[in-house]
Amino acid sequence: MDFKAFVLDLDGVVYRGSEPLPGVGEKIARLRRRGRVLFVTNNSTKTRGEYVDKLSSLGIEVEEDEILTSAYAAALYVSEHWGRAGVYVVGEDGLRKELEWRGVSVRESGCSAVVVGLDRKFTYEKLATAQRHIQQGAELLATNRDPTLVTESGLIPGAGAIVAAIEVASGTRARLIGKPSRIMGELILRQLGVEAEKTLMIGDRLDTDIAMGRALGMRTALVLTGATTREEVERSRIRPDYVLDRL
Ligand SMILES: [Mg+2]
Repeated sequence: MDFKAFVLDLDGVVYRGSEPLPGVGEKIARLRRRGRVLFVTNNSTKTRGEYVDKLSSLGIEVEEDEILTSAYAAALYVSEHWGRAGVYVVGEDGLRKELEWRGVSVRESGCSAVVVGLDRKFTYEKLATAQRHIQQGAELLATNRDPTLVTESGLIPGAGAIVAAIEVASGTRARLIGKPSRIMGELILRQLGVEAEKTLMIGDRLDTDIAMGRALGMRTALVLTGATTREEVERSRIRPDYVLDRL
């Protein structure tokens, strides 16, 4: 297959936490010689600029417009729907900064939306505050529903676990911004500028990366360096076109 573009997930594909996976720099350089490369992550904890720096520290040079994150997508979504609205954030600095750069006011009261991402300082108090805003009419937005996050020392709870807690407490289903939502799908196609049929989506999660690629009509490759085992692929109804040991 002669692919013209490659959409790559980050966590579990390019690195685990702060450790790059073996040989990824060389592999990505080869993909870039063959076509357009776009990195798309559901991880909302860093800004796009911080991902540029992180990849650079691993020897992979990329431009900011080659990176899409769920935090950036959430900031675009909020600013397009509510303008310079006020939102309550359950998340980390990357999410907060992306929102503020688009003119969104991150605050504690008068909130049009509650925006949720991975928050490693999540507390009962934040859960209660999010619940209160939703009861008062704020919309619940999930940057992602990933149940876990791949790190160098194994899987840790992901944003999906926090989203679930807020959904249960508020009795509301969140609107999903990240993969495999249509919101992220449209952003990927817009940013890519290559036909989906000529694009390969590469990721380590069936229900986000592979589901997103399939929804967009792309070919898909699951790598086994992250959140999914070969046994899970064989049991799943979501079938990637390729299953690879690594990138
Ligand atoms: Mg991943």
